[in-house]
Amino acid sequence: MPLIPLNSPAPVAIVGGGVTGLTTAFRLRQRGIPSVVYESGPRLGGPVHTTERDGYLAEDGPNTLLETSPKLRQLIDDVGLKDQCLTSDPAANQRYIVRGGRLLAVPDSLPGWITTPLFSFGAKLNVLGELLRPRGRAGVEESVADFVRRRLGQEFLDYAINPFVGGVYAGNPERLSVREAFPKLHQVETRYRSLFLGQMLGARERRRSGETPKDRAPKLSFRHGLGALVTALGRELGAAIRLDSPVTVLRRTTRGWQVTARRGDGETTAEHSAVLLAAPAHRLAGIQLDAGPDATLAWLGDIHYAAVTVLVLGFRRADVAHPLDGFGALIPEVEKQAMLGAIFSSSLFPGRAPAGHVTLTCYLGGSRSPELALASEETQLASTREALGRLLGVRGEPTFVHRTVHRQAIPQYLLGFGEFRARMTALEQQAPGLRLAGHFRNGIALTDCLMAALQVAEEMAESFGKGVHA
Ligand SMILES: Cc1cc2nc3c(=O)[nH]c(=O)nc-3n(C[C@H](O)[C@H](O)[C@H](O)COP(=O)(O)OP(=O)(O)OC[C@H]3O[C@@H](n4cnc5c(N)ncnc54)[C@H](O)[C@@H]3O)c2cc1C
Repeated sequence: MPLIPLNSPAPVAIVGGGVTGLTTAFRLRQRGIPSVVYESGPRLGGPVHTTERDGYLAEDGPNTLLETSPKLRQLIDDVGLKDQCLTSDPAANQRYIVRGGRLLAVPDSLPGWITTPLFSFGAKLNVLGELLRPRGRAGVEESVADFVRRRLGQEFLDYAINPFVGGVYAGNPERLSVREAFPKLHQVETRYRSLFLGQMLGARERRRSGETPKDRAPKLSFRHGLGALVTALGRELGAAIRLDSPVTVLRRTTRGWQVTARRGDGETTAEHSAVLLAAPAHRLAGIQLDAGPDATLAWLGDIHYAAVTVLVLGFRRADVAHPLDGFGALIPEVEKQAMLGAIFSSSLFPGRAPAGHVTLTCYLGGSRSPELALASEETQLASTREALGRLLGVRGEPTFVHRTVHRQAIPQYLLGFGEFRARMTALEQQAPGLRLAGHFRNGIALTDCLMAALQVAEEMAESFGKGVHA
């Protein structure tokens, strides 16, 4: 099969102009390999988008990027954002969890854990017993809830893990797979038997790898919000970007891959040596794959996504009783409140609210209440204001309202998700030159997507070097 030469206009096609696709294209370009990024919509970035209005800065999707690896800082420097980068205020590390309708600080020290009213005495003893508990049964896939109940007890599940899972996945711990959704946790048990032992014994290994665990990683953003990362990547890639170009057909040919995209009323077809699929799974499912009798992408449509609404509200400082001295508050399901949680955005980074005002970023819906995620703005605003009034003592009218509904926000790595991952790997083996990466495979955090993109780009560059795509 003749290779489409590296000096052809674009040996790589990238389907999806979110952070995964853009970062892969950028790193490939750094390695001297041009690509074309096909983006179905009129703008790049997927949920990563910032709105600045009336002195407020609202994030439509993610609020922070966790700096888990020095490679991320390097990427930020490479795209020219070094001077724009902000690290969250250390005073904002404090997190709150709601219990009994009150915000309680999550302890960050041993004395804090002993004295916190967040957990009962019995629950604390139960957590301590984790050190002695045996491993789970090998080969049995467990939900996050079953895993936590077995190792740390029901109360820890209700008041620590349930709100955490709501905040990260907008998901339900009873249905998420611990092995797929929190692979590191699962590996620690397999390797060290106890999570506490693993925490102590694994420290040296983590230091050697240069990686920082997510719970301790610095939280980053940019002066003009996370959207700046997308803007910078887009600027760097310039003419390689094709907006309003949804890919509809991928056809394997004797020379590589033929990619067809809709363009206005017509369509364009171009030849590439390799293709990266980096659009959401439910969108990839609609692409026709002509690459052999059984090849299809339709099964990706079975990956479940949770719906989330982000409601960014501004208030006069004087109208909020709580000091907002932290990252934000997470709300356990058992507390039966409307919100999943709220980030105290103006406490995290400067420039998020005008002087004398604050910004609260509130998350609604998720697997917990899908109907609320898709309710009218009026309903959402009323229940959010009611919850903010009760929890944070927020009074008065909001001075800023910005709402974004994500109908399919976050993929859920449910029990059995391993099957999807296995099928992705099998497809890549069956169709050389085809790769899949992004939130539906590599982890849902931005940091996971960026790290996966850098890795895929390096692997693609290496295979081009070896002529694998020939
Ligand atoms: C509300 C919300 C809050 C979040 N908060 C955080 C946070 O605080 N921190 C964090 O780390 N992560 C957070 N995340 C997760 C993170 O934002 C995502 O996982 C990440 O942005 C996914 O990037 P991606 O490139 O894999 O996919 P996407 O960003 O979804 O990009 C895929 C792109 O493909 C395009 N596309 C679709 N179909 C086609 C097609 N046929 N042809 C071409 N293009 C197509 C789409 O338009 C889209 O632009 C949040 C996500 C949401 C929704």
